[in-house]
Amino acid sequence: MGHKITLIPGDGIGPEVTEATRRCIEATGVDINWEIALAGETAQKKYNNPLPEEVISSIKRNKVALKGPLVTPIAEGFRSVNVSLRQILDLYACVRPAKVYPGINTYFKEVDIVIIRENTEDLYAGIEFENNTPAQKELLTLIQKYTQKQLRPETNISLKPISVYASERIIRFAFEYAIKFRRKKLTCVHKANIMKFTDGLFLNVFRKVSQDYKEIQAEEIIVDNMAMQLVQKPQNYDVLVLPNLYGDIISDLCAGLVGGLGVAPGANIGDDIAVFEPVHGAAPKYAGQNKVNPLATIFSGIMMLRYIKENSCADKLEEAVKEVLKERKYLTYDLKPTRDDPTAVGTREMTDAIIAKLKR
Ligand code: NAD
Repeated sequence: MGHKITLIPGDGIGPEVTEATRRCIEATGVDINWEIALAGETAQKKYNNPLPEEVISSIKRNKVALKGPLVTPIAEGFRSVNVSLRQILDLYACVRPAKVYPGINTYFKEVDIVIIRENTEDLYAGIEFENNTPAQKELLTLIQKYTQKQLRPETNISLKPISVYASERIIRFAFEYAIKFRRKKLTCVHKANIMKFTDGLFLNVFRKVSQDYKEIQAEEIIVDNMAMQLVQKPQNYDVLVLPNLYGDIISDLCAGLVGGLGVAPGANIGDDIAVFEPVHGAAPKYAGQNKVNPLATIFSGIMMLRYIKENSCADKLEEAVKEVLKERKYLTYDLKPTRDDPTAVGTREMTDAIIAKLKR
């Protein structure tokens, strides 16, 4: 029987990269029945709602979704639909592999890191207080009462909640992932020297849980040092587990190490639901131009095929991509030495080249 999967085309370049991925996945011969659901700016324009209930119910029904990027207005407008989706569906683990493939010009040749980011808490919890509101005024009074710290009246506040429950769940997920994918080391990234109660809690849970997984080397590192180590010796790192905000930033850094956002895939995983999506956003300035790299979404699609246990289709597609990369003939602009390289091809042409390899 075929798989039923929710497909969210997304905003900006989303429809182009998800279409490319759908075509590649179908060319592997896997039997998938896609259920299209609109979210983000596209849904806001059509239904006046960036996250229609039908999107949630479709993903809950099908348990698996492939998603294009969704626009989030900066500092105003509706809240991030990406963050809401992760919270509503309790997709607590964000998995972002960063691997160098031969054919992509990168400074380092041996990067193979998997970032596992906590997806539900931290500064992304969406608990914010705007100045001059009754709640913010009350909070300032409470802060002064309990900490003797007087904040300026015109102060906006975002809370950073980190719980034992969510930390233990993500850290166990990371150790289990390391075992399942035959990894050797798990590095916990934190800033517990400064945030003793929040990052300190995350680190203490890591130390405790690591006792149950002696077969995996457990290591800890402060986030600023992590950023430096990664651009000096990325080959020393294997799997990283991080609270939400550091995970977001460090995964973009790792994407840069392996060829940029155009090749960085991701998955948001819960206990029985998973949503696969590229790390990159909607890049609105390139929308509809047949220009951007489809690989980040295609690699996310490969992760999805493995998740639904279609391993041979995943392997076939990965091999086809590897061949196209190695030949260096059909590459989008971002994988060329200069951004205006006249030999760069479009999203569709690169996708066609991958499909041609699959059909041989
Ligand atoms: P972005 O990732 O959309 O674009 C940043 C730059 O990266 C682009 O200008 C482009 O140069 C490059 N880039 C991105 N994808 C590429 C691709 N496939 N191929 C080649 N180059 C690529 O980040 P942004 O400009 O900060 O965000 C734009 C919008 O996307 C915002 O509304 C933001 O909220 C949203 N966003 C959504 C997600 C998501 O849906 N998960 C993630 C990040 C940003």
